[in-house]
Amino acid sequence: MSEERQAFQAEVGRILDLMVHSVYSDKEIFLRELISNAADACDRLRYRALAEPELLGGEGVFGIRIEVDKAARTIAIIDNGEGMGREELVGNLGTIARSGTAAFADSLTGDAKRDVALIGQFGVGFYSAFMVAERVRVVSRAAGAEVAFVWESDGRGEFTVSEAEREARGTEVRLYLREGEDEFLEPARLRAVVKTYSDHIAIPVEMAGETVNEASALWTRPRSDIEPEQYTEFYRHVGHTFDEPWLTLHFRAEGVIEYTGLLFVPTSRPFDLFHPDRKAALKLYVKRVFITDEAPELVPAWLRFLRGVVDSEDLPLNLSREMLQRNPVLRRIRDGLVRRVLGELKTKAEEDKEGYETFWDAFGPVLKEGLYEESGQREALLELARFRSTASDGWTTLAGYVERMRDGQEAIYYIAGEEGAALAGSPHLEGFRARKLEVLLLQDPVDDFWVSAVGDYDGKRFVSVSRGGIDLGAIAPVDETPVDEAGQEADIAALVALFKVTLGEAVKDVRGSEALTESAVRLVADEGDMDLHLERMLRRHGQIDGAASRRVLELNPRHRLVQGLARSIAAGEDRAAALAPLLLDQARIAEGEAPDDPAAFARLLADALADSLPAG
Ligand code: ADP
Repeated sequence: MSEERQAFQAEVGRILDLMVHSVYSDKEIFLRELISNAADACDRLRYRALAEPELLGGEGVFGIRIEVDKAARTIAIIDNGEGMGREELVGNLGTIARSGTAAFADSLTGDAKRDVALIGQFGVGFYSAFMVAERVRVVSRAAGAEVAFVWESDGRGEFTVSEAEREARGTEVRLYLREGEDEFLEPARLRAVVKTYSDHIAIPVEMAGETVNEASALWTRPRSDIEPEQYTEFYRHVGHTFDEPWLTLHFRAEGVIEYTGLLFVPTSRPFDLFHPDRKAALKLYVKRVFITDEAPELVPAWLRFLRGVVDSEDLPLNLSREMLQRNPVLRRIRDGLVRRVLGELKTKAEEDKEGYETFWDAFGPVLKEGLYEESGQREALLELARFRSTASDGWTTLAGYVERMRDGQEAIYYIAGEEGAALAGSPHLEGFRARKLEVLLLQDPVDDFWVSAVGDYDGKRFVSVSRGGIDLGAIAPVDETPVDEAGQEADIAALVALFKVTLGEAVKDVRGSEALTESAVRLVADEGDMDLHLERMLRRHGQIDGAASRRVLELNPRHRLVQGLARSIAAGEDRAAALAPLLLDQARIAEGEAPDDPAAFARLLADALADSLPAG
């Protein structure tokens, strides 16, 4: 019998470290996690056995057993689920395959309070055993396999795996309790923990020959029989999370297609919401038999924060991966779920404004993906969307924006960028602020995409303020507009012509601007060209390469500097040409971009500053 000693994956090591030093106050949740794993293993085997009945080896009744050995100070959680072979033990209990794990582990700080909050979002599963155990021994035999294996570890960096004896298929997880954890040797205490956390598990959990839990699928029970805590624990089980559900939807769809849904919207944003591997993950059951938790057809990616169960009466039990695709029943279930969830969100938005805004803050960026992925739900989603804007510190709806539009205003203005503070200070906003025109501050990467896909709302076009050619002339500035040099507008035609010649290919054009009040210059995308922020974003993600498209440099004819330069030309001086590249770089910096040649920029700036000081 060969024993293999291995180190845990680095990330697991760090999580185990947290567990060993017991960051959690309610350590008892280890039992929920282990029972949850055992139940999942039974569910998976039940499904596999539909196609391969021989896997059951005649034992088709699934169950979980808890055994206590007071003398040895151990408790064991034993299931007859699908079990694990050597490779699965190593892979499943030595690494975490979940996406975003490395990023998660890196964000752990050693600050117990913060880390508890983080790990709550991540979920710890099996490793929580080490909160109460100084040693864990897992003996497992995979369904259909002849040999069993034993995995053992004290949670301090290494584990061993070797061959072992086990009569039947399934897994036994034995915990050697730490000093001071004797409460978990008391059957009454264990029963209470199972009742609290695992009552909803559809597989019976037995202690000393007695079934402790309700052992019927929670979603099949009438709503009136279910306590809020039971919903919460079920959510934690299916969602592998520790937080509270923000929204619980339990319903039965009746009619041509019948199914039951028990869906949850989490309170906090899961760790890997934006990880590329993150998939929509509802559990699909057919007539109470677990089929899969990987059916992307069941729910669109833009609702991937949903957790829960859908149980269909109409799908066949022997449903293969291929059959899931383009299955008309599944498609109708999906559309039904989408309608129901959006309808419920609408109600929440009306009934609980603040709660809804917290939800939007966490999941709005995901929902907005639906704006370009599912045109059929566009209207509903636009009503649900909330925005930051220059008009208030809070959130606004599009309807609210439209209500506040000024006379003569025809478009919905927005600026896209990452950072709120930088956005609010952008030169692009000056002319809008001066005219008290509200501008939406779009800060999510998806915004550029849906805005161009959606185009308009309520007949009003979405227009980026970083775009040239917006005619603000029809709307008069409001009185307190800060205007340099007493509002005198200089004739800058000669300056514009000189800049064009000097800057040449570096810009697409040079123009005087209505849209600036405080800044001397800005860069805009020419009409018909790609928005500046969108281009920067696509470039960062490698979606476009090559030279940046050329932009239009706008000069503010009311700014002292621009006026001074115009005067210097009239006086026959030649300083304006030398300063043209400096002004262009300045406009780039205001966009959050780097000067083309930072060293040359620094030299030019130093020269210009020196020239502005008294000589001698
Ligand atoms: P999670 O359950 O979130 O995937 P865990 O760390 O709890 O993470 O478990 C890791 C994996 O180990 C599970 O996904 C499963 O494949 C396997 N596993 C854990 N417990 C059992 C069990 N009792 N029977 C079979 N497989 C198990």
